[in-house]
Amino acid sequence: MQRRSVLASALGALGALLANGCPRAPLEPARASAPPPAGDKHAPVPSARGSTAAPPPPGPWRPRSEVAVTGGVHGDEPSGALVLPELEALGFATFGPCNPWGVAHHARELADGRDLNRSFARDDVPEVAAVQRFLAARRPALLLDLHEDRDAAGGYLIQHGPDDDLGRRIIRALGDEFAIDPEPSFLVVHGEDGVLRPSATVLRMVELSRFYGLAFHAWLALGITTLVVECPRGWPLAERMRWQRRVVETAHALLGPPTGAERDARAPR
Ligand SMILES: [Zn+2]
Repeated sequence: MQRRSVLASALGALGALLANGCPRAPLEPARASAPPPAGDKHAPVPSARGSTAAPPPPGPWRPRSEVAVTGGVHGDEPSGALVLPELEALGFATFGPCNPWGVAHHARELADGRDLNRSFARDDVPEVAAVQRFLAARRPALLLDLHEDRDAAGGYLIQHGPDDDLGRRIIRALGDEFAIDPEPSFLVVHGEDGVLRPSATVLRMVELSRFYGLAFHAWLALGITTLVVECPRGWPLAERMRWQRRVVETAHALLGPPTGAERDARAPR
């Protein structure tokens, strides 16, 4: 591959990545030892597709309030914003709809026509500032931004945090329950088996592009793993909402205990 074309494509892809996603607001008390996600497919998340994966952790390790969930960045992707109230009631830290005008008008963009999810490097967008205040106040250990994709063949995740395998473990846990997109892609950034994980180099280019969205911003600002959660817009709404809910629950169940680096990163400065 040509380096120049890869860079150019990566920048575009990054913008697109950031352009996919959405958040909202309240938060809740935590349940330090809540049981794993409800449902029947939950047992221990054995290494379904890997032969040497370690046994699943005994989690959940964290209160749900350490997991932030955003929705409604794109107003024409309703499932994310619609599941926020119930996630909030469960104790997750939620914010949304991030683009209230878009949700009210069933429009992807903000009232002024800009795409909120490409605007997180800007300082003149009130909707961006609102999300930034939420993140600064919560300082979550993980963020999931809920979206829908018109062209997806199944559910998939875009993970910011190239050294983390959380996205892969979530897909393993849910792979028998939902159709998973086998080849998710954003321009030249390609994933496989339901996970698209831009490399550190690509993420750096996105940063330089100043053209990025909520999940990228949260990864950059807080140093945490963030996931853009995508599902086909063609799924029935109830199924899209179930996917969003199950991904959030599963992410919480699989999120490990705080690492030393995380404690340092999250310590007051
Ligand atoms: Zn979206």
